[in-house]
Amino acid sequence: MSLTGHLQIIWMENSSAHTERLLSIQTLPSSLRNAKTTSIMISSKAYAALDSKTPLQPYNLSRRSVGPNDVHIEILYCGVCHSDLHQARNEWGGSLYPMVPGHEIVGRVVEAGSQVSRFKAGDIAAVGVIVDSCRHCNPCKQDLEQYCIEAPTVTYNGYERDGKTLSQGGYSTNIVTNQHFVLRVDPGSDLKAVAPLLCAGITTWSPLRHLKVGKGMRVAVAGLGGLGHMGLKFAVSLGAEVTLISTSHEKEKDARRLGAHNFINVKDSAALKKFNCYFDVILNTISAPHDYKTYLDLLTLNGTMAIVGLPPEAQTVSPFSLLTNRRSIMGSCIGGIKETQEMLDYCAANNIVSDVEVIPMQQINEAFERMQKGDVRYRFVIDLAS
Ligand code: NAP
Ligand code: ZN
Ligand code: ZN
Repeated sequence: MSLTGHLQIIWMENSSAHTERLLSIQTLPSSLRNAKTTSIMISSKAYAALDSKTPLQPYNLSRRSVGPNDVHIEILYCGVCHSDLHQARNEWGGSLYPMVPGHEIVGRVVEAGSQVSRFKAGDIAAVGVIVDSCRHCNPCKQDLEQYCIEAPTVTYNGYERDGKTLSQGGYSTNIVTNQHFVLRVDPGSDLKAVAPLLCAGITTWSPLRHLKVGKGMRVAVAGLGGLGHMGLKFAVSLGAEVTLISTSHEKEKDARRLGAHNFINVKDSAALKKFNCYFDVILNTISAPHDYKTYLDLLTLNGTMAIVGLPPEAQTVSPFSLLTNRRSIMGSCIGGIKETQEMLDYCAANNIVSDVEVIPMQQINEAFERMQKGDVRYRFVIDLAS
């Protein structure tokens, strides 16, 4: 068996297996160790959740060696998505630990595998929420890897295609990813503000495009957070009349600065009445339990509420809210790799980036607390140089 093959078999991402892996390397003949060590071991400094209750803490992990189709990226910036918090705290159930969150990754290519032609060392590149998929099912063949029937491999809190290696995300100094799932980024752009496009950006772009949002459409974005502020920017840029619906009246000024034509404080019944049966599309980015009816009542004939926010608990919907005006509810999950690249290119061409607050890695637990309280304008981004 080849050295690499041997190592892949013992490779696992938990700390005891990591120790096992190191021991295994140490027991190899010194000639092999010395010859191959740099291509086998890619150590990464990270922050991990070890369980659902304790704060994230420093954690060392090893990335797989760079295969022919892999790109090794030194991570410069990683955005902090509310999904990171949901999963680190096991709010959706089934979380896998140790967990290194982070799926809004921008960095510099360190090494590209022998079969990689689109990237070379020194290029700026990005990785989002998906790092692999089956590549042969119907959705995969349509560039909709996020709906892979065999389930996409998510950047963290999932298993690699071998079904046993834990995937680990971008709260770390580097990542090794198959080239198909690596995105190109305009090197001249503001990289820290580009990072959130890899999840908050594509997750809001995809349903707006699917629903053909454009001029003449009335669109509401519910929730002005990381996703909401990107949805607002995109809907405005696509030419729609856009209304921001928020629980907090202090956000009105920002909403208008970001391009909103109207603002609704969801606690203001007069404002809700004014916009009753008004919108063609509501993009719902809300992260906590809320009353869907309040929002559905605002949809006009054939209107659609696109759900992207993922509150931990199941939400209820009365059929009466749907049959009135023949309304629909749809869900939408991030976006495929092709569409993510299109979104990045659109953003570069139209000067669209995220509004960010940069934090050092060490402040991630405070950032989680602030995000939980809605105190973020509008995305935390970790500077991995810290
Ligand atoms: P975020 O920055 O924390 O924003 C969430 C916003 O929801 C808050 O800013 C707040 O806006 C609003 N909100 C919070 N509690 C609320 C409540 N009780 N009632 C009404 N509104 C409330 O989070 P994010 O990173 O944008 O993520 C939003 C959600 O999308 C999360 O659940 C996340 O897991 C999910 N997500 C889904 C996908 C997908 O593929 N579908 C991808 C990424 C993230 P206001 O202050 O304006 O009210
Ligand atoms: Zn996300
Ligand atoms: Zn598939």
